[in-house]
Formats: sequence, structure tokens, C-alpha cells
Amino acid sequence: MAQPLIGVTCASREPPAAGGAIQDVLGRTYTRAVQLAGASPVVLPNLEAPDRDPLLARLDGLLLSGGLDVDPASFGEGPLNETVEVDGARDRTELPLIRAALARGLPILGICRGIQSLNVAMGGTLYQDLPAQLPGPVAHRQAAPRSAPTHAIAIEPGSRLAAITGGRSLRVNSFHHQAVWTLAPGLTVTARADDGVIEAAEGTGEGFVLAVQFHPEDLVDCCEACRGLFAAFVDACGNRG
Ligand code: MN
Repeated sequence: MAQPLIGVTCASREPPAAGGAIQDVLGRTYTRAVQLAGASPVVLPNLEAPDRDPLLARLDGLLLSGGLDVDPASFGEGPLNETVEVDGARDRTELPLIRAALARGLPILGICRGIQSLNVAMGGTLYQDLPAQLPGPVAHRQAAPRSAPTHAIAIEPGSRLAAITGGRSLRVNSFHHQAVWTLAPGLTVTARADDGVIEAAEGTGEGFVLAVQFHPEDLVDCCEACRGLFAAFVDACGNRG
């Protein structure tokens, strides 16, 4: 049987040298985690398109990767302060892609910026600058290495995430400047940090729509629950009706 084909969104970046081309870039941890879970990853460029369906028709799932802040204009606000660093080309590509994938019932896994872009695409809002808008004791931008879990999350019993991880809590890493504020209709919160910050959300429908604020792709070598998250996503991608 063919492996599920999973599209992975990526960041756009200014040219590395004068006269160069704008770059599409993605940390290899995302594609590696997809491959380890038994699927074939394909990186999706930040190209605007009038119709997303020809691309999405060939994919079995969509992985929303991490990156810079979501432009607050996409949820009707101006930038709160100078810490808000947006990736406009990515927003223009990714937000319509998410809406089209949801309409098609494609399995979606969102990571870090991915929980934020999913929430905004579905009509929610974000804390633009978490330390300024919700100061608290939990360091959501850790200084420790990416593979080191530094804060706990409490997982909602009965959720898809609880079924996947097999527990009520998990130690996770944390590298985010923004976070979900008002949750979009069609999503439900399935994990929070000790300070109340939303660390996971899931679609309320039948399909696999799950997003986390932490970075499981950096933890697959040391965290069974994180491997399980990718395995469950790939399983959903391979078992579409
Ligand atoms: Mn966090």
C-alpha cells in the first residue's frame, strides 16, 4: 500500500544575500517526524493560488509547521507592539489552504504556529505578545534545547489527545511568542499549561483536526506520546473514507 502523502507548510524568508530570491524554509525535524511515522512528507511552497483543490486532492493530510507570528490583521487587529514579527506571504498562502483542507475533510495536524493559524483560519483570535498580555510564571519561550521538555500540560480526559498520549499530563517544550486567545467555533480546548495558556485544541467534528502549541517533532526521540501523535495523524491520513 502506498504511504500517505502529507503536505507540510513552511516559512518564507527574505533573500539571504542582496539580489537573491525570497526563500521557502522548513526545519527538517518536521519532515523527519512524518517519515518516521511511516508517511511521505512533501513541502508546500508559499505560492498563492486561485484554487487550492488541485493540490489538496493529491494530499492525504496537512501538517501546519511552526514559524513567525500570524499577522493580527487576519483577526481584525493592528500590531500590539514591536515584538510582533509576521510572515505575510505565509499567511496569504496558509490561511486559505487551511480553510480549503477543512472543507475537504483532510486530516490536519497543527504545531506551534499551526495551532494559531488553524484557530485564526476558523475565526479565533490570538494573544499577539504572550509575555505582555498574559504575564505568568510559565516560561513559554524556553532557553533550554529544543529536545528538552520544560513545562507541563494538563490534558482533557476523553479528548483525542488523551487517547493518543494515554495520560492526563505531559511534559513539553515551549517556543512560542503568541497563543490562542478566543477559540474558534468548531474547536475545543484539550490541553492547558499551569497558567491557563491553551496548549492543544481539536476539531469538534469526526475528522482528525488536532493542534498543539508545543513541538512534538523535536521530541520524537525521547517522548513516546510525541511519536504517538505523529502515528495517529499518519494513521488518520491513511484511513480516509
Ligand atoms: Mn508553552
